Amino acid sequence: MKISKRAEKIPPSGIRKFFDLVIGMKDVISLGVGEPDFTTPWGICESAIYSLEKGYTSYTSNKGLYQLRYQISRYLRHKYSLEYDPEEEILITVGTSEGLDLALRSIIDPNDKILIPQPSYVSYGPVSFLAGARPIIIETKQENNFKLTPKLLRSACSKDVKALILNYPSNPTGASYSKRELSEICKIAIKHNLIVISDEIYGDLTYNFIHTPIAQFKGMKSRTIYLNGFSKAFAMTGWRIGFACGPKEVISAMTKIHQYTMLCAPIMSQIAACEALKNGESSVLSMKKQYRIRRDFVVDRLNEMGLECILPDGAFYVFPSIKNTGYDSISFAERLLKTQKVAVVPGLAFGKVGREYIRISYASSLENLKEALVRIERFLKKSIL
Ligand code: PMP
Repeated sequence: MKISKRAEKIPPSGIRKFFDLVIGMKDVISLGVGEPDFTTPWGICESAIYSLEKGYTSYTSNKGLYQLRYQISRYLRHKYSLEYDPEEEILITVGTSEGLDLALRSIIDPNDKILIPQPSYVSYGPVSFLAGARPIIIETKQENNFKLTPKLLRSACSKDVKALILNYPSNPTGASYSKRELSEICKIAIKHNLIVISDEIYGDLTYNFIHTPIAQFKGMKSRTIYLNGFSKAFAMTGWRIGFACGPKEVISAMTKIHQYTMLCAPIMSQIAACEALKNGESSVLSMKKQYRIRRDFVVDRLNEMGLECILPDGAFYVFPSIKNTGYDSISFAERLLKTQKVAVVPGLAFGKVGREYIRISYASSLENLKEALVRIERFLKKSIL
């Protein structure tokens, strides 16, 4: 069958491609996929089980259950002083992934440019391209913890630029932005009339300071599409629930596309997400405590063995440099997997700027992490070029 040029042009995810190698190998410690090792807190699972017992097996309204949109508006008001109207400014999506796709498809006209600071989450480039945009990559620098600086942003802005995709805390680096840094980005976004698609899926997993949504800044709410979801903080990747908040005209456009493509998110997952917001906070805090302990351990060990690594502000990834090993990220990850059975993601998967880095997920037990780091150290001792 003839495949469209567009579909042909997008590369397969660098993460998945690599993890196909892992399938079928025995005794591999996988620090690869970006997924909590915890199962969903039991109270949340139970609420979905009850919902099935009560016969909740139907579609919901396209926007999602009102009760869930209401809980989200409460959460955003209490946690971040953000006001979103559950009737018109919040849409429940099938994961944050769908929110990203809908946001892009709702704002892009052919050949609009979308700014993507890299290293970045693997889907931003391909999804922008599929929506008809021209993705413009901004390569960030290690000396700025791979963050978008005002200078880099200013120099990437031109009249065809429609939007910026921002993600903090970041996948793959874990870096986040302080209020001061965000306010500089906001000034430029306002000056150049940019829409900001802000993927804050790891916002609740911020360790060093309090996360600040970019929509909080003056003049930003009307130009921000705020994306979030339940996959990470609540360990609910398999439930496929996310949400998008923004001005009513964009949420209405996103709802139209969602209506024809997805109809609605699964009802039992929406009910579970309500329970997560009502009673799940203590579980999030206890998982966060574990991630923090693991982060500190992994960063110390990597730096000790000479893989330079900054202390991430959030998420559950570290992004150490492998420059002084002589390997590029793909051969490093392949050899590490082959010889020591530890799976990490080559930094190249997150953009060219990541080619001398690897991403390690510490969403794995401390026991696994300890053993994996012993193996990585052994690998370095044996195979420095
Ligand atoms: N954004 C980022 C930055 C992510 O890391 C991920 C998942 N790895 C997603 C979005 C997609 O999340 P979801 O499961 O909510 O679709």
